Amino acid sequence: MKIYTLGTSHGATEHERSCSVNLLEVGGAYYLFDCGGDAESKIKNLGIEPNSVRAIFISHMHADHAASLPGMAKRYALHYNKTEAHADVFLPEPEAIPTLMSWLEAMHFEKGHSRFEFFELKPVSPGVVYEDENVRVSAIPTRHMQGGKFPSYAYTVEGEGKLFLYTGDLAPDFSDYPSVVYEKDFDAILSELVHFDVEKNLPDIKRSRTKKLIFTHLGPRKIPLIEAAKGEFPYPVYIANDGDSFDI
Ligand SMILES: [Zn+2]
Repeated sequence: MKIYTLGTSHGATEHERSCSVNLLEVGGAYYLFDCGGDAESKIKNLGIEPNSVRAIFISHMHADHAASLPGMAKRYALHYNKTEAHADVFLPEPEAIPTLMSWLEAMHFEKGHSRFEFFELKPVSPGVVYEDENVRVSAIPTRHMQGGKFPSYAYTVEGEGKLFLYTGDLAPDFSDYPSVVYEKDFDAILSELVHFDVEKNLPDIKRSRTKKLIFTHLGPRKIPLIEAAKGEFPYPVYIANDGDSFDI
């Protein structure tokens, strides 16, 4: 299992950092966690065909996590796709499904014309949301969106005997950091940094049962704080850049 952090910025694009795009490789297959800053070109630049991504999991419906879905959809269209490709695309808010379909239709992704049906939009609910021969992906509710007024999710991935967590964005006080990290042994956690307060949250987070913690969703002001605190974590801590990859 390997995670490519292709977009590591916080809510806005920074120099050489675009918004959230995380590509997970398991058993030679690819799964995308959030689709913020131009996922299509980021994946293509790795030498990977974007339409080989089997499933896309959106943590919450903010633009920095979901805005490049139409670009990914284009890659499944018939004129770009010489072989049959299919993606399950999981959206936390069911209301977003007809809205995104309308946007795709506005760009002439009509059924039968561009294989629109192979970009299959599905709602997320807590628990196991996706399973194939490589992975089992489960959604854990978080409270990022106005204290839970709108749904948001962290995702765990089991595969190849490994366990991985992607937190998505969390509540402003980090109180919804998934408690499963204190119950199971993780091989890696990919955590957002924007809402992590080094002073307040580190005592809890350092109890996470993981072999490594990778911070993404970075604001420039937080990076030196994490660099200074790295030694206080009982496991290796990494600050992800766009284009980095980490073995899990
Ligand atoms: Zn957000």
